[in-house]
Amino acid sequence: MSLFPIFVKLEGRPVLLVGAGPVGENKVGGLLSSGAVVTVVAPEATPAIRKLAEDGKIFWHQRAFDPRDLDGMTLAVAAVSRDVARLVYEEAQIRGVLVNSVDDPENCDFYYPAIVNRGDFQIAISTGGHSPALAQRIRIQLEQQFGPEYTQWIQQLGEARRDLFATDMDPDARKAKLHELAALRADRFGDEDGPGQGMVYLIGAGPGDPELLTLKALRILGQADVVLHDDLLTADILDLIPPRARVECVGKRHNERQVTQQEINRRLCEYAAAGQTVVRLKGGDGAIFGRASEEMDALRHANISFAIVPGVTAASGAAAAAGVSLTDRRLGSALVFLTAQRCKGNPPPNWKAVAEVGGTIAIYMPGGHEGDLARQLMDAGLAPTTPCFVVASASRPNEQVLETTLGELPTVQKLPAPAILLVGVEKASKSADRH
Ligand code: SAH
Repeated sequence: MSLFPIFVKLEGRPVLLVGAGPVGENKVGGLLSSGAVVTVVAPEATPAIRKLAEDGKIFWHQRAFDPRDLDGMTLAVAAVSRDVARLVYEEAQIRGVLVNSVDDPENCDFYYPAIVNRGDFQIAISTGGHSPALAQRIRIQLEQQFGPEYTQWIQQLGEARRDLFATDMDPDARKAKLHELAALRADRFGDEDGPGQGMVYLIGAGPGDPELLTLKALRILGQADVVLHDDLLTADILDLIPPRARVECVGKRHNERQVTQQEINRRLCEYAAAGQTVVRLKGGDGAIFGRASEEMDALRHANISFAIVPGVTAASGAAAAAGVSLTDRRLGSALVFLTAQRCKGNPPPNWKAVAEVGGTIAIYMPGGHEGDLARQLMDAGLAPTTPCFVVASASRPNEQVLETTLGELPTVQKLPAPAILLVGVEKASKSADRH
């Protein structure tokens, strides 16, 4: 028999909770936020439940369950051992009260669904008790699709609906208008005079493994109208972009016709000014060696709103691939992010200062010059025995990790780009041996 799905108004109605341990405590918040009058019966209670009782938010009878507790209740929740839950269930049947026994489907009249909660906009997911794990999984996916902005959006849609009903508009025209409003996207609502100005999201996509995208990055990607990405983006991540979005590769490396930074800035501003949701998607963290400040300058100059979504930077991905910690207090106390490429006119890195800082040096864009870099660092005072890793394509299926020393680095095989050099890190067991 299939379940009958409903959303119940509990405001002002009495609900019984049997059991006041951590499981019971989990159930109280939801009941209280729907306005239920909660009575708890339990010999012992968690501090949070005691506090609610002291504050007069719930009633707590400090004793064992008595079948008469069910009299007059709308619903009951049993967060107790199976035998007590059975008793609650049987007594509730006699009185016509619906019961949920937590994690005990046999003693349930109703189940708690997994829920996407955006204020008055709620999505409930049920598997009829077969697989709460699947319900949780789907909830997480839906939460990405329907972000926190829906909380406000549903209020605004409600207001618009009430306003429209207050007019003497033709019912068919009103219906059409209501559907038109509902078809707008949550992040666009309020643009009643057509699409207003859009928004640019500067998103870091991590080192390549799509699972290293943040939930926020994934959610916003799902809303994108246009995505401008660089060369570091993997096909697995690009596959997550909705098919309706326009995707432009503006990478500087592999493009036949190089897209200049100015051109990228111009496109970001133009698309956003036309009301589009624009994602500037970069490998790693967009704010590390990614020219993000030039893009932010251009957006600020054009008065375009933007938001930054940080990502997992290549150094973190590489350290994970190599199985090391980026910092080890037994080896040093600094972590230097350095690039082997520099902007025209900028002085070369102060290798001596870098060598003296003591700790880990993550060198981005080594560009096949690992040998030269090693020599510079040794000239600046680092020992040839300093441990190093070269990591290519960290977090991707073709990831490669090479463990070596500064002294050996000029002679080891070059790894394909993208590769990063980690200097001064080693496996924890080795550093422990030395101390
Ligand atoms: N914003 C990026 C860095 C851009 S510079 C970040 O935060 O990671 C580009 C350089 O990053 C590459 O030359 C390489 O040194 C490094 N890089 C990016 N992705 C990498 C990966 N998956 N594995 C190893 N190095 C990577």
